Amino acid sequence: MAGKDFYQILGVARGASEEEIKKAYRKLARKYHPDMNPGNKQMEERFKEISEAYSVLSDAEKRRQFDLGGSERFQGFGQGSDPYSAYARSGAGGSRDFQGYRFDFGDPGGGGFGLGDIFQEVFSGRTGSGPFRRRNPQGEDLEYSLELGLEEAASGVTTKINLAREVSCPACAGSGGQGNKPCPQCGGMGRVNQPENIQVRIPAGVDEGSRVRVPGKGNEGSNGGQPGDLFLSIRMRPHPRFDRQGKDIRLEVPISLSEAVFGAKIEVPTVEGSVKMTIPPGTSSGQQFRLRGYGMPEAKKSNRGDQLVRVKIVLPAKLDEKSRELIREFERMNPYDPRKEN
Ligand SMILES: [Zn+2]
Repeated sequence: MAGKDFYQILGVARGASEEEIKKAYRKLARKYHPDMNPGNKQMEERFKEISEAYSVLSDAEKRRQFDLGGSERFQGFGQGSDPYSAYARSGAGGSRDFQGYRFDFGDPGGGGFGLGDIFQEVFSGRTGSGPFRRRNPQGEDLEYSLELGLEEAASGVTTKINLAREVSCPACAGSGGQGNKPCPQCGGMGRVNQPENIQVRIPAGVDEGSRVRVPGKGNEGSNGGQPGDLFLSIRMRPHPRFDRQGKDIRLEVPISLSEAVFGAKIEVPTVEGSVKMTIPPGTSSGQQFRLRGYGMPEAKKSNRGDQLVRVKIVLPAKLDEKSRELIREFERMNPYDPRKEN
């Protein structure tokens, strides 16, 4: 086997940075991808070569080995473990060997090259763009960032989002046009972006960074391919008063001096609306009370967290002389040092 120069194949210098290698690969892969050149065996061979080169040079360890010993070290790639066979097998057959590549080919195993990772990284719908995506028979997944309030996350919510999905062009039914006349609506691509109102159901208990899958609401597939899924990436709007900590919610509530001394029943807000809470007589500032079950629900579980209420004694902004005298009197009658232990 003649030694291949993976650097030459990608057209980069030996000292090229990871970013340069990725860029070069992207550019070449778009050009030579079989979906862009249906039936062109030469282009397909070239594409395999490019992918092979990238799979080695994008992996620090494999690249190091290649630098030391050339491509012979990577012979396993050639026979028997051809990574393309993975999708050739899983595809629908015919000339579209690459059908289903997005999910079907995994790491060939045994120190294989894991082309799946490369494709997902380089060509995933989140970062990729351009004509490559449009020929993908399986519709891409879409990602949508959805901001929710704490109350919505606590109860779960059904809402509508507006989103442009890529669908088959209605004017040409996805054909791209007739003869050599491109369809004016889609410019010959056979695909258009169509805004859509999609109703989504967010389960109770989601948190910052939660992902909610809406099956089949990604881009439509082409040539009978399955649609992708829509993933809602949840962002939590900061709440002015509630501090969420996992399934518990913390809240600080001001109380007056006399409420602290004599005790009181006060209204406390929760994500479920306000509830009555008892402040026992002789409560100090900073004391914490637990409202059991008034925290956040846990996703897919029936129990919920608690709300932890910390009280803070707040004095009136101004005390008149008579009030101050009363406090002095209180001090004389109840001498104590709050900083002394016990
Ligand atoms: Zn069209």
